[in-house]
Amino acid sequence: MDFELPGEIKLLKEIAQRFVDEELIPKENEYRPEGEEGMPEEILKPLQKKAKDLGLWLLEVPEEYGGAGLELLPRCVITEELARTVLLPFRENEIFGPNVRAVLFHCNEEQKERFLYPVIRGEKRICFAQTEPDAGSDPGAMRTSATPDGQDYIISGTKRFITGAGRADFAQVLAVTDPEKGARGGISCFMVDLKSPGVSLERQWPTMMGDAPWEIVFDKVRVPATNLIGELGEGFSLGQKWITEGRIRTQGARPLGIAQRSLNMMMEYSEHRETFGKALSERQAIQFMVADSAMELHAARLMVYECAWRHDRGEDVRDLSYMVKITCTEMASRVVDRSIQVHGGVGLTTDLPLEWWYRQLRSLRITEGATEVLRWRLARNIMRGRRGRS
Ligand SMILES: Cc1cc2nc3c(=O)[nH]c(=O)nc-3n(C[C@H](O)[C@H](O)[C@H](O)COP(=O)(O)OP(=O)(O)OC[C@H]3O[C@@H](n4cnc5c(N)ncnc54)[C@H](O)[C@@H]3O)c2cc1C
Repeated sequence: MDFELPGEIKLLKEIAQRFVDEELIPKENEYRPEGEEGMPEEILKPLQKKAKDLGLWLLEVPEEYGGAGLELLPRCVITEELARTVLLPFRENEIFGPNVRAVLFHCNEEQKERFLYPVIRGEKRICFAQTEPDAGSDPGAMRTSATPDGQDYIISGTKRFITGAGRADFAQVLAVTDPEKGARGGISCFMVDLKSPGVSLERQWPTMMGDAPWEIVFDKVRVPATNLIGELGEGFSLGQKWITEGRIRTQGARPLGIAQRSLNMMMEYSEHRETFGKALSERQAIQFMVADSAMELHAARLMVYECAWRHDRGEDVRDLSYMVKITCTEMASRVVDRSIQVHGGVGLTTDLPLEWWYRQLRSLRITEGATEVLRWRLARNIMRGRRGRS
């Protein structure tokens, strides 16, 4: 057993670390990601060029499509470093290349020309539309339907909380094609041009995180059958591999970086701030917050690295990925909260990144698998496993 990161991953970590320390953190006061506009071009473009020069470009895109094609462990290590800055927008980050939704790798050759390559080149944007007013955690309750009509499908229904829909050209829409089967083979995935007749962006839902996802109504929208991605009924299972990766990297490794910088800030501030004639760092109440944060962060980091490493060996890490998401999002929420506490009033101000992380992390305990749902699935799987062994 070896707990050292391989040399090439250490090197990538150093490159990412330097990029964040030298290029991103100094710009934090120029820009704070709020709203849907994305980073202003004059800040984004030079950063993108530097990221490209450093090889930090399209990290998750396979090499055959011009990406770095990195395995999950190095991506987690890099993500952890990058997450130390608030310059990195939480949901729609484009500093390290356009957002290429993984489902696009399932396109056939003709579809790649229309959807995958334009997204990789940054010419078109895509959003993901699964959630509905009555179907969030439970996609089996989905009502949006896709009914065959000649060479087309007719899509009708309402999707809620769709990030980036206002700037997207098309949406990856999950719709019911076989109501009998539901989530077990009855849901299919379509690319829908958001300028199609019958599509309307009804309203936005402004959130405490500063972003405002959209509600989209599809009113008998005609979509060519050639826009079906993968097989009929495969829509739900298509995303499973990528969802697991996302849970480990964006909801596991990213909270590590946030927690690490929050802990560093807590320690630094406590050394300089004096109350009642003593530095805060000399108070046991503060030392315990530092110790608890360091312990929890260390345990969470080991869990993320192990999970990513097993994933890269081809093991089924679904249960581990639930543990990672729950552990890391809850751990980072506690560490940021403690750091705010140690900073006192200053910790609540927008001068520091802490309040922003506090708000963003809160959302990670609900989106892409609420904590309770993941705990429930984890317990169910573990208990099934135990029964199987006895
Ligand atoms: C900012 C933001 C961006 C989003 N972006 C997108 C997007 O781009 N595309 C998209 O499709 N969706 C998106 N979503 C939707 C998001 O994924 C859902 O909000 C999430 O899946 C939870 O669904 P829900 O809100 O309907 O909560 P519900 O399913 O109604 O659940 C409410 C609460 O009930 C509890 N709960 C639910 N089921 C169980 C259970 N079995 N056991 C115990 N407790 C349970 C949990 O505490 C949960 O938080 C976004 C949401 C937000 C807020």
